[in-house]
Amino acid sequence: MPANLTLDALKAAVAAGEIDTVAACLVDMQGRLMGKRFHAQHFLDSAHDETHCCNYLLATDMEMNTVPGYASTSWAAGYGDYVMKPDLSTLRRLPWVPGTALVMCDVLDHHTHQPVPHAPRSVLKRQVERAQAMGFDVMMATELEFFLFDESYADLFDSGYRTLTPKARHNVDYSIWGTSRDEPIMRDIRNKLWDAGIPIECSKGEADAGQEEVNARYSDAMDTSDMHSIIKLGVKQIAESHGASVTFMAKYDHRRAGSSSHIHQSLWQDGKPAFLDPADSHGMSAVMKHYMAGQLAHAEEITCFLAPYVNSYKRFVVGMFAPTKAVWSCDNRTAGFRVCGEGTKAVRVECRIGGADLNPYLACAALLAAGLDGIEKKMELEPEMRGDMYAATGAREIPKTLGAAAAALNGSAMLRAAFGDAVVDHYVHAAEWEISEQNRVVTDWERARGFDRA
Ligand code: ADP
Repeated sequence: MPANLTLDALKAAVAAGEIDTVAACLVDMQGRLMGKRFHAQHFLDSAHDETHCCNYLLATDMEMNTVPGYASTSWAAGYGDYVMKPDLSTLRRLPWVPGTALVMCDVLDHHTHQPVPHAPRSVLKRQVERAQAMGFDVMMATELEFFLFDESYADLFDSGYRTLTPKARHNVDYSIWGTSRDEPIMRDIRNKLWDAGIPIECSKGEADAGQEEVNARYSDAMDTSDMHSIIKLGVKQIAESHGASVTFMAKYDHRRAGSSSHIHQSLWQDGKPAFLDPADSHGMSAVMKHYMAGQLAHAEEITCFLAPYVNSYKRFVVGMFAPTKAVWSCDNRTAGFRVCGEGTKAVRVECRIGGADLNPYLACAALLAAGLDGIEKKMELEPEMRGDMYAATGAREIPKTLGAAAAALNGSAMLRAAFGDAVVDHYVHAAEWEISEQNRVVTDWERARGFDRA
């Protein structure tokens, strides 16, 4: 299902008074949509060709601080401009915002008009092109989990996030009755995203109070990443329009389940599934086995892109459906890599390591780079692990901290070859900044623990 607006259709909609605003968006390091809202006529007259933004947008942290130490930009370099180049194949209506359309933009150098290498869309595009040069189309789906709360974002901010009331008061996993209170919002989310050209398959209650999941149909990796970004925007805006709020944090409370973004992946050749071999005992082709072997071999190195914050690592706990081991298994939810659709056209690998806080472009690109390395090197797939992987001793662990994952990323010859040194250095710096901020800031937990007892 393509985005649902062409430039000509936009012209007609503007002339008919149906659309007056176009949001032109780049994707930042955190996976957020950043950009400008144009008067639709100005977008048609000029901005559809290109527009501009401050280049600090790819060098900030979550709170928009100007982080020192990036090679790409700085106060010393004057924080100049990037070009935002609308990708008109992504133009679509945003049915949940009156009179508004949205377009995704690529980020180009202001002077050379070359792609900015560390821009998330550029990072993914490079790996997709690499796969295509090897003869493969890359199909992916990113599931998205989140928690829904009664309070509005403004009320939660004002209370310091102390009065969080999950919409459903208890675990509503798969429960049709239990998610009834969520349904006015979830129905709006499914239908309005569908009307934005995003083929929603379903939503369901998830494994803790107030937790929901939304799934869109798989598509090529870039389209899937664009949909992921727009789904997050839509879910937040639609929840806000109902006076409610959601969080995509990987772990908003250590007593609750975490929120994940499992990534389903398959390669296709000439419209046929390159992962399928009906003669194999699991129905898995040699290509699929090499691809998975590459992801297992490089699992530690790519984790920084699946779990990019200090908080992300609090999700990896035993017995809460988040994996702790980077091993593979068939239809087993305790493994980091789960084979689904065994022996069918839909045979695929689901990476379960990523949290809902991941940047989909970077996560898909890192998974792809690792898998393609496995194919290029014809890596041999280790034996399947079975049973309870939480209890398995000696199995490959997922890094336990952002520091460990950042060190593995920094030392990754595979990712340095695939992404380029400057891109790897950029994201290592982002991780190290997160860690240094966490080390600097005194948290509520420390104050409550130590105030009158220290
Ligand atoms: P789960 O049991 O993990 O919930 P689902 O059957 O709901 O799995 O599918 C999850 C996602 O996998 C969906 O978004 C679906 O579109 C996607 N998917 C299905 N087939 C493929 C495929 N061949 N390649 C990639 N993703 C796929």
